[in-house]
Amino acid sequence: MNYTIALIKGDGIGPEIVTSAVRVLEKVGQKFGHRFAFSEYLMGGCAIDACGTPLPEETVQGCLASDSVLLGAVGGPKWDKNPAALRPEKGLLGIRAALGLYTNLRPAKLYPALSAECPLRADIVEKGFDLMIVRELTGGIYFGERGRRDGKYGPEAYDTEAYSVMEIERIARVAFEAAKKRNGRLVSIDKANVLETSRLWRETMHRIAAEYPEVALSDMLVDNAAMQLVRCPSQFDVIVTSNMFGDILSDEASQITGSIGLLPSASLGDGTRGLYEPIHGSAPDIAGQDKANPIATILSAAMMLRYSFSLSAEADCIEGAVDRVLASGLRTADLIGAGKETPLGCTAMTDAILAAI
Ligand code: NAD
Repeated sequence: MNYTIALIKGDGIGPEIVTSAVRVLEKVGQKFGHRFAFSEYLMGGCAIDACGTPLPEETVQGCLASDSVLLGAVGGPKWDKNPAALRPEKGLLGIRAALGLYTNLRPAKLYPALSAECPLRADIVEKGFDLMIVRELTGGIYFGERGRRDGKYGPEAYDTEAYSVMEIERIARVAFEAAKKRNGRLVSIDKANVLETSRLWRETMHRIAAEYPEVALSDMLVDNAAMQLVRCPSQFDVIVTSNMFGDILSDEASQITGSIGLLPSASLGDGTRGLYEPIHGSAPDIAGQDKANPIATILSAAMMLRYSFSLSAEADCIEGAVDRVLASGLRTADLIGAGKETPLGCTAMTDAILAAI
């Protein structure tokens, strides 16, 4: 099969890690008989420098014309003081909106070979965990009405959260489908003891649950969920939650895996096209030094094969290669505890994964 992939390398370590993922995709293409055609587009700080905007129209059109999109990361100190319209993150929000991506899938699992890097207690680590967070991406408080006004005690600011039944129903179906393909357990996280949006969220989740008798749905309040993630992460299979709760809980989940350099993500909409990216940022402190861990981006490419192209065997092949490389003891600098092994650079780690494929 032939697939077209838009590449947005972005800023900082973005070009290095996307190049690694492209090498892996090419290798898997050779092995399984697929052809991936790549086109590069600018977004973020590099686009501000070259085109005066974080998201050039050519990038939007290029992504819309591609079967899927692979993104490195955007941002860096050079653009930190820019006005809001000229911030690299503006490109990120813009491309998600332009592609209609309302679901963010963030898996977090503990690799047995990396259990020493997990900050949790040994008896918790022993049980391991492998969970998937399904976060609503285009609604809620990040997109609600906001502003400044004169309040009872003087000047004040406000943000509002709104969720429609339609927005909750569509993210619910994504989450139930994900749970069906995994271990059939779904926890919906909300703050229904306080928030009206959460009460509608909970009501809607339970109505949609009737369509999925094979999935066991339970509810959890977000404050409890934040505790349970560090107390007993093995209890979770799939988690579904709103934009802001998902933002916070998925970062918490990433920390208990031991490294930010390992975790991929997928943003999906109604069609098969998705945007795949590592969860970490552009790591300007190590950019251009061949020190970045490419695994999160390589695993994001594997998610692309699985979710956008339905190439499960090919995705398994990449994930298996990463498992074996980590089990063999090879590490990039971010995965090494104080002075243990000599770290591999980004290129050498990619070479090792290619060899394992
Ligand atoms: P960051 O994730 O870039 O870096 C945090 C720390 O983790 C740094 O020490 C970095 O060196 C390390 N790190 C991150 N990825 C790594 C990798 N693959 N291998 C090895 N080490 C890695 O977060 P930050 O420092 O808060 O942000 C830096 C820039 O990235 C900012 O401009 C921020 O706005 C941007 N950012 C972009 C995205 C995105 O593009 N989706 C996400 C988060 C942050």
